[in-house]
Amino acid sequence: MRTKLIAAGTAAAAMAALLTGCGSSDDDKLTIGIKFDQPGLGLRSGSDYSGFDIDVARYVAKELGYEADQIEFKETPSPQRENMLQSGQVDMIFATYSITDARKEKVAFAGPYFIAGQDLLVAADNTDITGPDALDGKKLCSVQGSTSAQKVKDDYSTGVQLQEFDTYSKCIEQLAAGTIDAVTTDDIILAGFAAQPANAGKLKVVGSPFSEEKYGVGLPKDNDTCQKVNDAIT
Ligand code: GLU
Repeated sequence: MRTKLIAAGTAAAAMAALLTGCGSSDDDKLTIGIKFDQPGLGLRSGSDYSGFDIDVARYVAKELGYEADQIEFKETPSPQRENMLQSGQVDMIFATYSITDARKEKVAFAGPYFIAGQDLLVAADNTDITGPDALDGKKLCSVQGSTSAQKVKDDYSTGVQLQEFDTYSKCIEQLAAGTIDAVTTDDIILAGFAAQPANAGKLKVVGSPFSEEKYGVGLPKDNDTCQKVNDAIT
């Protein structure tokens, strides 16, 4: 009897999992959260989307049975990611999204599918900012709700003037204008900005990473057993 009950419970759970699916929505669309302004990773140009996160997202979506025309991309800026998953505004997120214990209290992650490291972006002719320990008295820019800004607050706050925006492209504008000394976030994000034609020869990544950022696929918390996303990543 007990076995039967457990079996019935398991079948119900399996059915619920089937119905819920992996980040499924009520219709046949999959709403995927990405960045819109991070060249090489998640970039919108008109109605085109490109970058590594987009490629991974499209691949995973295909493995889950969604055609390209069933995907709707939505911008998920760093400070809004957990909230947008919790409120159901997106089904999943591929947006340079580091897996952290604090975030795991609110959302679930599949992956990781990439490992980055926090670094610094400075003007090409800058010689004094050689790493995070050389930031005293400097104006540094990062993004609200990011692990990058949090690390600066936790480990390097003395003497550093941290300015926070909601996107990295706003930091890059300030760096290009010379109103700040450095931008900090993951090396791969900084490299994407440095490689943009408009910044050619003007900016450089310092190249001394000081964290490990494991990029995960953000999912609503009740989808954390979604093996399909992990299978696709594998
Ligand atoms: N990977 C870091 C994070 O998830 C920084 C990049 C970002 O803000 O997207 O906080």
